[in-house]
Amino acid sequence: MDSRTHNSFQGLAIGMIPPIQQSKVSLTDSKPKLHGIKANLLIPGRGEPLKNACLIIHEKVITWVGPTSSLPPKYQSVPCVSVPVLMPGLWDVHTHFLGILSPAAGFDSLLSRSAALAGAIITRDLRNTLFAGFTSVRELAGYGGEISPAVDDGTIVGPHIYSAIAPISMTAGHGDIHNLPIGTVLDACAHGLPFAVCDGVPDCIKTVRLMIRRGAKCIKVCATGGVFSLLDSPTDTQFSPEELKAMVDEAARAKRVVAAHCHGKEGILAAINAGVKTIEHGSYLDEECIKLMLEKDVIYCPTASVQEGGSREADKLPPSTAKKILEVTAHARYAYRLAIKHGVKIALGTDQASSMPGYFNSHGVNGKEIWYAVKAGMTPSQAIEACTAISPETLGVHMAPKSGQLRVGFDADLIALDDNPLEDIGVLAEPDKITHVWKDGKLFKSPKGVE
Ligand SMILES: [Zn+2]
Repeated sequence: MDSRTHNSFQGLAIGMIPPIQQSKVSLTDSKPKLHGIKANLLIPGRGEPLKNACLIIHEKVITWVGPTSSLPPKYQSVPCVSVPVLMPGLWDVHTHFLGILSPAAGFDSLLSRSAALAGAIITRDLRNTLFAGFTSVRELAGYGGEISPAVDDGTIVGPHIYSAIAPISMTAGHGDIHNLPIGTVLDACAHGLPFAVCDGVPDCIKTVRLMIRRGAKCIKVCATGGVFSLLDSPTDTQFSPEELKAMVDEAARAKRVVAAHCHGKEGILAAINAGVKTIEHGSYLDEECIKLMLEKDVIYCPTASVQEGGSREADKLPPSTAKKILEVTAHARYAYRLAIKHGVKIALGTDQASSMPGYFNSHGVNGKEIWYAVKAGMTPSQAIEACTAISPETLGVHMAPKSGQLRVGFDADLIALDDNPLEDIGVLAEPDKITHVWKDGKLFKSPKGVE
């Protein structure tokens, strides 16, 4: 029997385990259901900032926002905290929670430890991500998706996780593990590794369905070669147009959209023509790609953090990887500026994947992507919108939560700072400058520590 037709042990287990009971020492049991935040400056995520503003939260949702002077009488006795600057919780739309402890470790290192150990290691990453001000992530492959129920019920501290589970790759593609026997790779994929390899339209359709079965909120496909895969080139086109379209169509039947990893121009065009929602990396995109992206409302996720950081520390990478990252980054800088100039819709993602603090792609310093966005030509308010209001759109209309904006009816995911990021965007890149983090209306970080 093909190993991929086995029932996923993990999938079955998730269905059989009763829900974890909420801890009696929950972070916020003592908090009132209705509470407010007053801010000298409120940055809404989209639209003009508001001075001397107030925001009221009812349970998990923003129920009122406006000038403090207009606060309705029914809210005037609601307990409020005061902060200098209030804005929506940030989004990172391209992360990987894998439990990898070195940026130079190959994909094969994932097989050297159990999924349970990787899950334990990434609990620190999830916490660091939330405390850096990132209340939501789109995980484009990793273990985060499968442990997100434990985040949702409060067992683990972390952001909302909207995961693709695995990067769907063709044999010898970016998401294959080229230095292992293919049987080993397929067996590991069928037993919990967050990777997926398939070929031909029926197999591609089946693999999309397997991702949905494992909890995918979006689908990720590898439409070109990549930097960290061993034997392919970032300019190789991967999957046929028929295979790409079949995966987009199958995802759409389950109300999911597709994110396409692609560097080379041909792969970018093939992915857009197949109907994907987001182009990840997009290093070689040019005017022709941009025209098509604007026509089809495709979102660009440039991932400058991994490219610039990887280029800076290329000497720590294997020589073939270093060569590839230097090449794609040179093109990506041009592509990013061009996309901004032509008004392509952009959402920010870091491609962070390392669980060892201190590396260029370690979790918990996601805000540097906002700094790169401004460096590439965005205004600070454009960069903030790309990291807040636009981000949920990367999940498509059916899966996008009401998040990323300080508006009535939206999720009460918020952060506060002492400094104004519109004047110094760099403050968002420093986790210590994020003084408060609320997720679903609950305070997770404050100057007094965790409440
Ligand atoms: Zn990635």
